[in-house]
Amino acid sequence: MPWVNKKKCVSCKKCVKRCPVDAIDMVKGKALITDDKCIYCGKCVKVCPVKAILKDRDFVELRISDNLKALKGPLSRNKGKNARKRMIKSRIRQLRNQQKIIRGTIQELKQIK
Ligand code: SF4
Ligand code: SF4
Repeated sequence: MPWVNKKKCVSCKKCVKRCPVDAIDMVKGKALITDDKCIYCGKCVKVCPVKAILKDRDFVELRISDNLKALKGPLSRNKGKNARKRMIKSRIRQLRNQQKIIRGTIQELKQIK
């Protein structure tokens, strides 16, 4: 499913006009895609003049980069090697917990008929 980076969206509405199934609305001046309506045609990704709409793969890469940036700030302020290691371990633990939650949720969703 495409994903809109609200920070980049300049409210031109080109994606809204291009979407063949009316899956995009403007909410508070930013494009918003309704998951249930989207048919994954990718037309909105191509038409956006500022590359505010990302494909799944690009969205994942952006989130990885955001996660790393969020950790690099506190890490750079912390000069102790051991303290930095602890911070990294703690973040890895948090991410692993999130991973377990997501896997568990997906497993449960697969059981729903
Ligand atoms: S991928 Fe296609 S259907 Fe989905 S929001 Fe974009 S233009 Fe609409
Ligand atoms: S085409 Fe891009 S910039 Fe224009 S409204 Fe859609 S997401 Fe925003």
